[in-house]
Amino acid sequence: MTLDDDAREYHRRTPPGKIEISTTKPTNTQRDLSLAYSPGVAAPCRDIADDDELAYDYTAKGNLVGVVSDGSAVLGLGDIGAQASKPVMEGKGVLFKRFADIDVFDVELDAADPDAFVEAVAAMEPTFGGVNLEDIKAPECFEIERRLRERMDVPVFHDDQHGTAIISGAALINAVDICGKRLSELEVAFAGAGAAATATARFYVSLGVERENITMCDVDGVLSQRRVEEGEVSGTVEPFARGVDDGDLADAIRGADAFVGLSVGGIVTAEMVRSMASNPIVFAMANPDPEIGYEAAKAARDDTVVVATGRSDCPNQVNNVLGFPFIFRGALDVRATEIDEAMKRAAAEALAELARRDVPDAVVDAYGDGPLRFGPDYLIPKPLDQRVLYEVTPAVARAAMDSGTARRDIDPEAYRERLEA
Ligand code: NAP
Ligand code: MG
Repeated sequence: MTLDDDAREYHRRTPPGKIEISTTKPTNTQRDLSLAYSPGVAAPCRDIADDDELAYDYTAKGNLVGVVSDGSAVLGLGDIGAQASKPVMEGKGVLFKRFADIDVFDVELDAADPDAFVEAVAAMEPTFGGVNLEDIKAPECFEIERRLRERMDVPVFHDDQHGTAIISGAALINAVDICGKRLSELEVAFAGAGAAATATARFYVSLGVERENITMCDVDGVLSQRRVEEGEVSGTVEPFARGVDDGDLADAIRGADAFVGLSVGGIVTAEMVRSMASNPIVFAMANPDPEIGYEAAKAARDDTVVVATGRSDCPNQVNNVLGFPFIFRGALDVRATEIDEAMKRAAAEALAELARRDVPDAVVDAYGDGPLRFGPDYLIPKPLDQRVLYEVTPAVARAAMDSGTARRDIDPEAYRERLEA
């Protein structure tokens, strides 16, 4: 059977789909049912009516994330619409559950425009402890996220933007070290100026890269001041336009310390990699085919080339599952009102730090592809490494408490022990 056939069978097997609701309290007696529903349920309702915050004590809100999409930019499939995106959103729910024991309602919205989408999601605030926006196309995704973050008191996080930024940011922190470079001096060329690329560039600036050292390209080449002045470049990408001559991707890459690809497969040649500065960093993250393959980038030159891609069959897979389960877990557990820059940085730094430690045998065995030791081929932890939960989650919670987005204080050490239990 092919992978497609296997996947159809996997999804179709009774019961159809991948998730279900289960109850967490006894439901065996008449008394149990009167507690779960009428008349007993009135007491917690009245308490919550007096104090909204008690919803976290009496309901599943604090462990419930809405994965919300309009199906307009579904991974590798494009604008397939809300209904067709449901297997992906259910799948995201599977990952939240598997990696951080977070429950998900997947919400596929047939919204006519960003206004309708924003109204629908904002109206669901009572239901959720957090909202993961998923697979919404640019540029609408920027406005939708901004407006919902302003309106809602629970975290709203567009994973396609920030997840990529955080995981590749962790890889970048370690890559510059391995290559003997510094973030503050790094010349970075980007292929792509969409949802993932702009969020990633902004996050790299928050990690210490100078905005002036970033050269970003869209399908028409370098984002230059001339293109801004002539109205070709505007909106979210405008801050990344540089006062340089017009040029193409090859011009942007020449001499750069790092290449970051969040565009389309196959657009970077070995020649371009050879034109980069010494010991270059190549993060070719277009899916399913990278801008340049792992082997081709490595083979392009004799010095150290640190390569990351989105592929699971190569070292250094930049995969969002290393981030969102743990970031939401930490945010939910301190009842954070948002996922702010400090929390994102804390997640990236914790991932980068964890990659420097010895890897337990169980993790090495789970991947079965030889030793995992900090270096060019092991920049970031593996998703099946349990320690990601114990390290990243408390780091995010601590950052939320420090930055004041947490509505509840917890003892980070006791919290960590609880996660490990
Ligand atoms: P998007 O919003 O559609 O952005 C795509 C960008 O690529 C656009 O700015 C587009 O330019 C640009 N582009 C297209 N062809 C190009 C070319 N030949 N040269 C330079 N730029 C070119 O998509 P996205 O959500 O940001 O995702 C972009 C890519 O990143 C996809 O391949 C996606 O799979 C990958 N991705 C990977 C990960 C990961 O973890 N590995 C995570 C997220 C995304 P225009 O603006 O001019 O059209
Ligand atoms: Mg996605």
